[in-house]
Amino acid sequence: MTARELQTIARRHGTPVVVIDHEVIRRNYARFRKHLPKVQAYYAVKANPAPEIIRTLFRAGASFDVASLPEFMLVYDNIRNLPPREQQDFIWDKIVYANPIKPRETLEALDRYKPLVTYDNLAELRKIQKYAPRAGLALRLRVPNTGSMVELSSKFGCAPGEAVDLIEAAARAGLVVECLSFHVGSQCTNFENFVQALNIAAAVMREAASRGHAVKILDIGGGFPAPYDRHVRPFSELARKINAEIARLFPPELEILAEPGRFLVATAATAVARVIGKAVRDAKPCYYIDDSVYHTFSGIIFDHCPYHLKAFKRGKPEICAVFGQTCDGLDTISQSEELPEMEIDDLVYADNIGAYSSASSTCFNGFPPAKLVHVNE
Ligand SMILES: *Cc1c(COP(=O)(O)O)cnc(C)c1O
Repeated sequence: MTARELQTIARRHGTPVVVIDHEVIRRNYARFRKHLPKVQAYYAVKANPAPEIIRTLFRAGASFDVASLPEFMLVYDNIRNLPPREQQDFIWDKIVYANPIKPRETLEALDRYKPLVTYDNLAELRKIQKYAPRAGLALRLRVPNTGSMVELSSKFGCAPGEAVDLIEAAARAGLVVECLSFHVGSQCTNFENFVQALNIAAAVMREAASRGHAVKILDIGGGFPAPYDRHVRPFSELARKINAEIARLFPPELEILAEPGRFLVATAATAVARVIGKAVRDAKPCYYIDDSVYHTFSGIIFDHCPYHLKAFKRGKPEICAVFGQTCDGLDTISQSEELPEMEIDDLVYADNIGAYSSASSTCFNGFPPAKLVHVNE
């Protein structure tokens, strides 16, 4: 999006506004498929659950990773009525349910769809056996998350040493482990995590096969990094490593899928906000904008992701602080941003804000989430 287009949209729709460019989403998806041709992409809906995004990615050929019953229904309802019309009596090729911990009511509601669901422990297995006996299983492995922006390995995944016992326990419960899965941590810029995870999965798969349990699907999870800054090495380099390990470690007939979230949507959105107040505190200019960390900038807190604000106007940059609109001191967008001197009603913007941003927006302090504007749908 050009600066002029963004300003026009902000004028027409008011601020705060988040502009989502679907051309970028299609490009990111095409890039993923081009560099990982053997891997079907299941978009992780939690990164940005806008139905418009689900429909665009479905049309492009994507499948979906959901982690709650509402997300499952959101995808199910949005892809059901879209061409290509498919009867969803086999759901796995379009949706995986990748949250290893599920409330019993969710399992009961999911069972009729014969879903593919993740587990990583015996208590969860018992629940699935009781409440969703028609589900297929994916076993989530614990793998190194070293250096990823968001770590997940302390919360999810069985130790590799327990994996084959859990596969056998599933078989005894009348269930079948169809898939092994892992997640290397979100915004994984340490590509070795993927290499190690693939090797762990291959070892588990070999041992399972030797004990009579053939696993047919490998799910290599999410974590593919968005190019937030120039330190992030290119996706093509990561894909080369992954492809080489896959070719070396697994039989060619193995079905492989991935759950990219951030990679597909982060670069597709730009937030535009307006300066609504200004002050000088301890000799530092302070600006207050009509968005906040409780809203579009929630990723600063939940996603450990720093967003930089830029001005449309030119001028000598000076170090300043930028705060959100709420009354909370935590609502600090940056203590050291570089902006020219701003006036009330001037616009600022932040790019690459499509993942884990509006997705976790709240209504705190009475301020509604920013309006979403979709372009190039
Ligand atoms: C969040 C999540 C994803 C998406 O992760 P990204 O880092 O955004 O690619 C994929 N799979 C699971 C199970 C997740 O929890």
